[in-house]
Amino acid sequence: MDKLIEDPRLARANRAIQALAAGMMKVSPFILGKAWVVESQSRFGTHEYLVLNDEGQWQCSCPDWQARNEDCKHILAVKLTHARHI
Ligand SMILES: [Zn+2]
Repeated sequence: MDKLIEDPRLARANRAIQALAAGMMKVSPFILGKAWVVESQSRFGTHEYLVLNDEGQWQCSCPDWQARNEDCKHILAVKLTHARHI
């Protein structure tokens, strides 16, 4: 289990699961199957980000995604709550 969590992708998924379970992130559908608003609470306050799925190309409006261009915790939160697999 610990070995799995060392994988950065799984570690992010794990953080997303924990944030969802703790109520620190809320996912609201915006356009069915295509866009979601993710409300994310942190020690810096509450932020809302827009997550888009354009034919399997995922995007997020957060700085993390802009910098890294790979699934951030908001995209993972949407996938975890609205899709069958990550
Ligand atoms: Zn994001």
